[in-house]
Amino acid sequence: MTYIIIGFVPLLVFTTTVFKTMNKYYVEERKKEMLSQANVISGHITVMNYLFDDSKKELFDYDIKETSRQGGYRIVVLDSMGTVVNDSNKTIIGKTLLIPEVVEALDNKDIAREQDNETVYAAVTIVDSRSNQIGAVLISDSTSDIFETIDNIRKQVIILLFGVVIISAIVMFFISQIITEPLKKMLEVIKKMSEGHLDQRVTVSGMSHNEISDLAEACNNMADELEQVESTRQTFVSNVSHELKTPLSSIKVLSESILLQDEVPKEMYVEFLKDINSEVDRMTEIINDLLTLVKLDQREIPIDYEMTDMVKLCGDVVKRISPLASAKNIKLEFIADKEVFAEVDSTKFTLAISNLVENGIKYTDEGGKVSLYVDCDHQNAFFKVTDTGIGIAEEELGKIFNRFYRVDKTRDRETGGTGLGLSITHSTVLMHNGSIKVTSKENEGTTFVVRIPLRHTPKVSENVQ
Ligand code: ADP
Repeated sequence: MTYIIIGFVPLLVFTTTVFKTMNKYYVEERKKEMLSQANVISGHITVMNYLFDDSKKELFDYDIKETSRQGGYRIVVLDSMGTVVNDSNKTIIGKTLLIPEVVEALDNKDIAREQDNETVYAAVTIVDSRSNQIGAVLISDSTSDIFETIDNIRKQVIILLFGVVIISAIVMFFISQIITEPLKKMLEVIKKMSEGHLDQRVTVSGMSHNEISDLAEACNNMADELEQVESTRQTFVSNVSHELKTPLSSIKVLSESILLQDEVPKEMYVEFLKDINSEVDRMTEIINDLLTLVKLDQREIPIDYEMTDMVKLCGDVVKRISPLASAKNIKLEFIADKEVFAEVDSTKFTLAISNLVENGIKYTDEGGKVSLYVDCDHQNAFFKVTDTGIGIAEEELGKIFNRFYRVDKTRDRETGGTGLGLSITHSTVLMHNGSIKVTSKENEGTTFVVRIPLRHTPKVSENVQ
């Protein structure tokens, strides 16, 4: 309706203006034509001396009548006093006619004027051969024919306009149906989604490729994403419960077996308490890792980017972990050929690299080798952690960054892994706008390559905050 009103009103104003202008133009043309006719008649009267030669009266009458019939207008001839001496209608002969046009013509001014009663009056002076003013010719004609013609056209145009409006209203109605129908459907689906029915999808089939189908697709992608998040959340919660339940059950079994015995030797107490203590340590480790991850996810901990000497950072990591390597008789190698400085949060980044090196040692058998290389180009810093360990099967490679994911559950309980270390490393690297890649071959070894930009460029959202 809005479009129709916006389109129709100016069109109506425009046509009305055009018709008014046309009307005015034709009336002006008619005035000019009548003036020239009146002048011709006036000249003819002078030449024929009709006003003073009574013998030509009949011819005068005939001339006036004939000219009036041919021109389709009324002719009135007046003498210099304003008395009608001839009238093509023969109704006012002998009467004095002093309408404004006649007065002006007798005053030597030719005039053509339109009156309210849709009549045009044109009056001109009659002069004799010595230019004396001897009378006036007044011709009058109705302009109703002009009005009628224009009115007819106006009516047709208005009918046409209404036709166009009705047709466009129908077309627009259907077009808006085509546009709003899928939007309505989408709205319904989104409402259902917000009520928790995340399995709802907008049907995109049948829609041609346009903004609406794009919107529907984006809506479906968002729903996929939401469903994914929801299922990850559920898996995460069940994993956390499971992980915490295992040490808790051990503690329960251990404490109950002491409680249920009457006479417990001291050594047994000590041994059971040691086991309980190690289970508590394990729970603490899991909870600490979880807290770190949750904080990384929520971006709760402020990220403290500063230009850091990465060679020193990695050297420190290697130094701290080397006792672990020595205990397993593993050769821990650190290679850095050039200076590497990058803008990182050193605490978080140290943890990320430590996790990789510790894993290398954890999953490499005695006598193996773990190496850490640090390198850079003009944009990025690279960290490569390679080991000669047990490796990871190809089908497992995609999952190892998932929370609580462990390739071999039994083995990891022995090595004490929580299954969260790589998730923490992954989140940290992403936070630094970097990437992490892994390649591995079972029983040969694993290589992790981390890339991070040397300079931290804040994301748009960070800037806004
Ligand atoms: P965890 O605390 O169990 O080590 P991570 O998240 O650090 O947890 O690692 C996830 C899993 O990926 C590990 O349980 C292990 O099976 C596998 N993994 C990680 N690093 C290596 C490696 N260097 N060599 C072989 N397997 C590895």
